[in-house]
Amino acid sequence: MKVIDHINQAKDTLISFEVLPPLKGKGIEALYKHLDPLMVFNPSFINVTYHRSEHVFKKKTDGSFEKVVVRKRPGTESICAAIMNKYNVDTVPHLICGGFSVNDTEDALINLNYLGIDNVLVLRGDAAKNESSFEPEPGGHKYAVDLLRQVVSLNDGIYLEEELRDTQKTKFCVGVAGYPEKHFEAPNKEIDLQHLKQKVDTGADYIVTQMFFDNAKYHAFVKDCRAIGITVPIIPGLKPIYTKKQLSILPKTFNIDLPTDLSKEVLRCKTDLDVEKVGREWLLMQSRELKKAGVPVLHYYTLGRPLLIADVVKDI
Ligand code: FAD
Repeated sequence: MKVIDHINQAKDTLISFEVLPPLKGKGIEALYKHLDPLMVFNPSFINVTYHRSEHVFKKKTDGSFEKVVVRKRPGTESICAAIMNKYNVDTVPHLICGGFSVNDTEDALINLNYLGIDNVLVLRGDAAKNESSFEPEPGGHKYAVDLLRQVVSLNDGIYLEEELRDTQKTKFCVGVAGYPEKHFEAPNKEIDLQHLKQKVDTGADYIVTQMFFDNAKYHAFVKDCRAIGITVPIIPGLKPIYTKKQLSILPKTFNIDLPTDLSKEVLRCKTDLDVEKVGREWLLMQSRELKKAGVPVLHYYTLGRPLLIADVVKDI
C-alpha cells in the first residue's frame, strides 16, 4: 500500500521507522533482531536507506591507480522485499542519484515494481567520500527532482527506450526530503524551499524532513511550505541523542543545530547511559508535542538504537 494512502486513511498520527542495510557480509538476521522490538507498534511502513559504496584509489606496482571498494551496504531493494514478506508491512526503499546512470535507475525501479513495492523515497545523495562536492554519475541525475521526473515518467508508462513494447505503467508513491534548517548547499532558506516546491510540483506525494531537535523549527518549516503553496503531508523525521560525542557529530554531519537546553543537559551527564536517559526524555517530549499538533506520521531514524526508540514509542 502507498504511504499516501496510509496517511489519507489514518484517523490518528501514524508511526514509521527507518533502518540501514547491514554492512556487506553481515546477515539479515541482525536486521530482523533490530526490527523485532519495533514491530509491536504496527508501523505503517519501514524505510530502508541506500548507501553508495566507499572506495579508495590504491597505487599499483606499475605506478597506476586502481579503484578499490572498502565499504559496502548493498541490498536495499531485496531487504525491502524481505521485510515486507517477514512482517507483512509496507516498505519504502531510498533511491539516490549518486552512482546511478538513468539506465541503472530504470532497472532498479523495474525490480521494485516486480517485488510489489509501491513506494520510493527519491534523493540526490551526498558527495562520495573522495569528492569535494556531489558529482552525478555520467549519464545520471544531478538533482533529486531529475530522478523524480524519471519515476513520474515510468508511472506514466514512459520508459527510456521509446521502442520498448508491452510496457506497463508503474504506480510508485514518491516521497522527497525537506530540510527545516535548510539544506547546507542552498544559498538561503527561500531558494531551498523553491527547490522543494519544484519537487512537489513535479509529482512528489509527501515530504520527510531531516532530523530536528527543536519542534519550533519543524512548525515554522511547515508554515513556510504552506505559504508558498506546498500542500502535501510533511512527515517529521526524529532521532534520539544517546552519546556526548553526538553534540558535535550531529551538527557537523547533518547541518542541524541542537537546542541550548538539550546541549546543557547532555553536557551535565557523567556517562553515555545518562545521555541516553536525557535523549529518551527529549525525544518523548518532541513526539508527544508533534502528535498533539496532529502531524501525519512520526518517523523514527532507528540507527542502532531500536530499544531506545521502542521505549519512547510505548509511552507516546
Ligand atoms: P536535492 O533535492 O537535489 O537538493 C540538493 C541541493 O540542491 C539543495 O541545496 C537544493 O536546494 C538544491 N537544488 C535542488 N534542486 C535544484 C535545482 N533544480 N537547481 C539548483 N539547485 C537545486 N542520503 C543517502 O545517500 N541515502 C539515503 O538513504 C538518504 N536518506 C535520506 C532521508 C532523508 C529523510 C533525508 C532528509 C536525507 C537523506 N539522505 C540520504 C541525505 C541526502 O541524500 C542529502 O541530504 C543530499 O545532500 C540532498 O539530497 P536531496 O534529495 O534533498 O537533494
